Amino acid sequence: MTIQAVAVIGAGTMGNGIAQVMASHGKDVLVVDLNEEALQRGHAAIEKSLGRMAKKGKLDESEVPAILGRIRGTTSLQDCASVDLVVEAAAENEAVKCNLFTALDGIVGSDGILSSNTSSISITRIAAATQRPDKVIGMHFMNPVPVMQLVEVVRGLDTSDATAAAVNALTTELGKTAVPANDFPGFVSNRILMPMLNEAVFCLMEGVATRESIDAVMKLGMAHPMGPLALADLVGLDICLAILEVLHRELGDSKYRPCPLLRKMVAAGHLGRKSGRGFYEYGR
Ligand code: NAD
Repeated sequence: MTIQAVAVIGAGTMGNGIAQVMASHGKDVLVVDLNEEALQRGHAAIEKSLGRMAKKGKLDESEVPAILGRIRGTTSLQDCASVDLVVEAAAENEAVKCNLFTALDGIVGSDGILSSNTSSISITRIAAATQRPDKVIGMHFMNPVPVMQLVEVVRGLDTSDATAAAVNALTTELGKTAVPANDFPGFVSNRILMPMLNEAVFCLMEGVATRESIDAVMKLGMAHPMGPLALADLVGLDICLAILEVLHRELGDSKYRPCPLLRKMVAAGHLGRKSGRGFYEYGR
C-alpha cells in the first residue's frame, strides 16, 4: 500500500514534528486540532523548526515553502475522509483517543490505516473502539521528531501483517528506523524511561541534589545527551504524569507511582518547555 495523504491529529509538540517530517518527505499532510489558535501555533512551530534546519545546513532553504505548502490545517475531522493514514497525536488520555478512533473509523475510507502515537495506552483497546482493528497500530515517534531516529511500532492483538508492513515501509521512507514492540503499558521506551525521569523528580523533591546537579550527574556520569529533568521538560510534565499513571494503574506496581512533586508541577500548570516553565525556565 502506498501512503501519500496523511492526517495528523493534534498540533502539539509531537503532531507538529510528525507533520514536518511527513511533509519533508513529500507527503500531503492534514493537521487537525480543536481550534484555529492551536493550528496557528503549530504552523509557526513547524516554520521555526524548518528555519533552524536550513540555518544548520540540514535542509536547502529553497525547499521550505514547498514543505510548508504540503501542510494544511483544519478543525474538522470530516476532512480526513480520503487520507491513507492517520497519525493520532492528541492528549495522552484513553477516552480521548478511543472517541477519536471511533469517529475516525466512520470518516476515513475503509482501506485507511489508523495509527496512534500514544506513549503508553493499549493499542488493542484503542483498536477495539473501531470496526477495523486489523488496520490500527501504534506508531510511536520520539521527541523531537525531526531529529530522533526511532519509531517504536506497536501491534495490537488484531493488527494485520499488511498494516505493520505498510507502517514499517513508511518509517523507512521517512529515514527512520522501525523497532517492533508488543502491546504492554509504556511499550519498551516509556517502561524504561519514565521510572528514571520520575526517580530524578524524587531526588529533587527529597533534596538529594539541585536540578543542575541531578542533570549533570546523568550527563557527565552516564553519558546521557541531556539530564532527566531537562528531558522531562522537553517531553512535557503532563505527558510524563499521564504515562506514569498508566504504568502504575496497568502494571499495579508501586515503583511506578508518580512523584508528588511531578503532580504539583502539573497542577500549577508548569508543564515544561511548552508552558515556558517546568523544572527550568524557558523564554517564550
Ligand atoms: P501536546 O499537549 O503538546 O499536544 C496535544 C495537542 O492535541 C494539543 O494541541 C491539543 O489541542 C490537541 N488535541 C487534544 N484533543 C484533541 C482532539 N480531540 N482532536 C484534535 N486535537 C486534539 O501533546 P504531545 O506532547 O504532542 O503528545 C501527543 C501524543 O503523543 C500523546 O499521546 C503523547 O503521549 C505522545 N507522545 C509524546 C511525546 C513527547 O515527548 N511529548 C513523545 C512520544 C509520544
